[in-house]
Amino acid sequence: MISTDIHLLLTGDELMSGDTVDTNSSMIAQALAEWGHSVAEKMTLGDDRARLVSALRRATGSARILIMNGGLGPTQDDLTAELVAAAAGVALVINADAEKHVRDWCAARSIEPNDANLKQAWLPKGAEIVRNPRGSAVGFAIEVDGTLIITTPGVPGELQAMLPEVSDRIVSIVGGGGVHRVRVQTFGIGESTAQALIDADAEPWPPEVVLGFRAGMPQLEIKLTAASASPDVDRCRQILERLIGDHILGEADTTLASALQQVLRDQGKKMVTAESCTGGLIAAMMTAEPGSSTVFEAGFVTYANSIKHSVLGVDQMTLESEGAVSEPVVRQMLSGALARSGADIGIAVSGIAGPDGGTTAKPVGTVWLAWGTQDTMHTLRTVLPTDRAMFQQLVAAAGLDLIRRQLLGLATIPHYFSRRAI
Ligand code: AMP
Ligand code: MG
Repeated sequence: MISTDIHLLLTGDELMSGDTVDTNSSMIAQALAEWGHSVAEKMTLGDDRARLVSALRRATGSARILIMNGGLGPTQDDLTAELVAAAAGVALVINADAEKHVRDWCAARSIEPNDANLKQAWLPKGAEIVRNPRGSAVGFAIEVDGTLIITTPGVPGELQAMLPEVSDRIVSIVGGGGVHRVRVQTFGIGESTAQALIDADAEPWPPEVVLGFRAGMPQLEIKLTAASASPDVDRCRQILERLIGDHILGEADTTLASALQQVLRDQGKKMVTAESCTGGLIAAMMTAEPGSSTVFEAGFVTYANSIKHSVLGVDQMTLESEGAVSEPVVRQMLSGALARSGADIGIAVSGIAGPDGGTTAKPVGTVWLAWGTQDTMHTLRTVLPTDRAMFQQLVAAAGLDLIRRQLLGLATIPHYFSRRAI
C-alpha cells in the first residue's frame, strides 16, 4: 500500500564513520518545507550492498517518494545506479542524456572522458535524468512499485544546485504550494524575548499562523507559516515589524552583511573596518557577499600596537597609558581608518578574545567598539565572556549591526547591549 510519504536514504561510509557530517538531509528537508512537505522517514547507511538493497526493498511499494543521496560518483563504492536498477528489475544501460552531460562536462574542461567518467552515464533503463549544473554525475528518477526514486549526488554544492528540479518533480506528484511561509531574519533578539513580546501584545496572534524559530549564530530566523496563501501571514509580518522592527534584517536568506550592504547601497555610502580582536572577520563577512566592492572600501587588521600606530595613526602615548583595549584607542582606530580610506562610515573593535590576557579591570571578553563617522562617533564597552571563536563572531556581528543601525537612524545603543554595556 503506497502512502504519500517522502523518505530519505543517505548513503556513504563517511557518514557512518563521522568523517562527514550529514548536512544534506537538512538541506533537502528545508527545500521540501518550502512546499509544505516533510520527511517521514530518514535512514543513513554506508556503501553496503546488502543493507542498501534491503532499505530499497522496504521503501519501494510503501513510500510515495524516496530521495537517495550519495553514491552517484565514478568510483567502485558508488553503488546507487546499480542497486536502484536491481530494485527496479531493469538493466543498467547507457542513458543518452546522461552521456551527453558527461561528454559536455569533460569537453568544457578539455578532457577526454575516461571509463570512470562514462560510468556515470550508465543508469537504470527507463530512468530520467535530474540535471546537475555543477558536476559530472547527473541524478535520475525512476518509478519502482509505485515509489518514485530520485537520486542526488552527495557533494553539497551539487545537491543544492539540483534541488529546484528535485522539488519540481516532487511537487508534480504530491502537490505543493499550499503552504505560505515567510522567513524573517533578525539579529540581537532571542526567541524567548520575541515570543514574550508577541504574547504580551494587545493584538491577538492569528492562530492559523504557526510561529517557528530557528536560532542560527548569530541570527535568529522567525518563520511564519500558514496552510494557504493567507493574508494572516502578512498581518503577522506587520506585528513583528511593530514589535521588533529594528531587529529585522530582511526576509529569506538575508544576512547581517547583505542587509548592511543593501542599506549602504541605498544611501550611496562606503564603509571601512579597523579590527584588532576580530582579526578581519568583519571585513570577511562583508566581502563574502557578492557586490561588496560597491560599498566596502577597506579593512585594516591592526593587531600589534606598533601597527595601530603606524597604519592608523593611533597615538603611542595613548596606547601605553590606556592600553589597546580602551575607548580612546578604538576612537583613534576608527578615525584613522576613515581618514585613510575616505569611507563614509566605519567600525573599529579592540578586545580580549582570550582565553589568556584578561585582568581584573579588563577580563577576558572585554571589548571596546567605536562606530560611525568622523562627526558622529559612538563608543561602547561590553564584556562577552565566551570562548574565543564565539567572542569573535559576536563582536563581528554586532559591529555590522551597529553600522546598519546608525545608517537607519535606529536606537544608538541596541537593546542587546543596553543590558550588557558597562
Ligand atoms: P558521493 O556522491 O557519495 O560520491 O559523495 C561525495 C561527497 O559528498 C562525499 O565524499 C562527502 O564528502 C559528501 N557527502 C556525501 N553525503 C553527504 C551528506 N549527507 N551531507 C554532507 N556531505 C555529504
Ligand atoms: Mg559516496
